[in-house]
Amino acid sequence: MDKYQGLLKAHNLKSTHQRLAILKNISDAGHIDVEFLYSKLLEKFSSLSKATLYRNINDLLASNIIEEIKLPELKQQYEIKKEPHIHLLCKNCHNVKDINYNLDSVYSEISKDNKFKIEKSFIVIKGLCSNCV
Ligand SMILES: [Zn+2]
Ligand SMILES: [Zn+2]
Repeated sequence: MDKYQGLLKAHNLKSTHQRLAILKNISDAGHIDVEFLYSKLLEKFSSLSKATLYRNINDLLASNIIEEIKLPELKQQYEIKKEPHIHLLCKNCHNVKDINYNLDSVYSEISKDNKFKIEKSFIVIKGLCSNCV
């Protein structure tokens, strides 16, 4: 069983060729928008309809296997759900990189200073990647 079959099974979703291909494409890309994902899938499933793709995406979202993210100036993207992380967005090539950085002390300070209970944060840092500087 590959890791995506295991992931689907753990969430009580049937593993179909399409779902496995969707997860593999999202994972390979890191972050992918639906148009690009659809064009990648058509290479393999030439009769796939967009409605079917959306239905599969919704099942994967509902099971918390994938996550929807919105980055400035980019179309809505999907990624495999993982630990909270920071997105580095290159304004030139639009490359998106995930970084893990422990912000616990910053969050507790923000929380204390503002008397605000933080539940979720989404951080995007915009700039130029090493290829574009
Ligand atoms: Zn770049
Ligand atoms: Zn990410």
